Amino acid sequence: MDRKKFLLSLATLPLAGAAMKLNDLTRITEPFKPTPRMPVLFLGHGSPMNAIEENEFVAGFRKVATELPRPQAILVVSAHWETRGTLVTAMERPRTIHDFGGFPRALFDVQYPAPGSPELAAETQRLVTSATVGLDQSWGLDHGAWSVVKHLYPNADVPVIQMSIDYSLKPEQHYALAKEIASLREKGVLIIGSGNMVHNLGMVAWDKLNESYAFDWAVEARAKMNQSITSGDHSALVNFHGQGKAFELAINSGEHFLPLLYTLALQEKDEQATLFNDKPLAGSLTMTSVRIGKA
Ligand code: ZN
Repeated sequence: MDRKKFLLSLATLPLAGAAMKLNDLTRITEPFKPTPRMPVLFLGHGSPMNAIEENEFVAGFRKVATELPRPQAILVVSAHWETRGTLVTAMERPRTIHDFGGFPRALFDVQYPAPGSPELAAETQRLVTSATVGLDQSWGLDHGAWSVVKHLYPNADVPVIQMSIDYSLKPEQHYALAKEIASLREKGVLIIGSGNMVHNLGMVAWDKLNESYAFDWAVEARAKMNQSITSGDHSALVNFHGQGKAFELAINSGEHFLPLLYTLALQEKDEQATLFNDKPLAGSLTMTSVRIGKA
């Protein structure tokens, strides 16, 4: 019997319904079995074209998926969903959002029909106590989520929800908020931050679009970011304002960097951060991605 039918049958059994407390019902419908702590990822998503191209970064996404236990669900914090207040997508069937322009038809034709998870949305809402998390019924999966998750789970058979970035929060508040959902990792939930650590579209070297090339400031920012991540000292990253010119240029608009803070905040003392896809691109971007977990 599937879950919906089961719930319906409960509703039509007056005695069972009356005798059962709400907590019992919640426990019965709890779809997330306890698991060993899931790894956490930050994925540098780069151009939306990575959704349909074959390149070393796509190969890196596929490879990391083979190194993970199969998740029961996925929660993505994407650079491309900024809201006032924090929201989580709570619909059963999230739509594939093509939130870009000027790309080939083939990219607009991509659908990623992974189911949503109203249960995970509700559990995330319950876990966050420092803010009121809203349940969203209108967003779906933006390209920050589907363009990368499709390489990890091409069959679209793992439920995916998104959590938005509240643009009114300070960096340290994002870092603290992420820690509140840490227990999801022990319910088989793969948490993914999706952005780009170095990301300044205004300074892209258009003549070196597909080249592993970095401006001097991007070289400096990447080195400092990588050092902070691999050493486990996140202070310079959480306090990225006031770290000098290289960080100012690399994190110029912030939204592609903030998902990294959600990922790093979830690192436990006995875990390591490993880099992959660690390459600069087009002068002012890096594709550097992070896997956090036991060594
Ligand atoms: Zn992006």
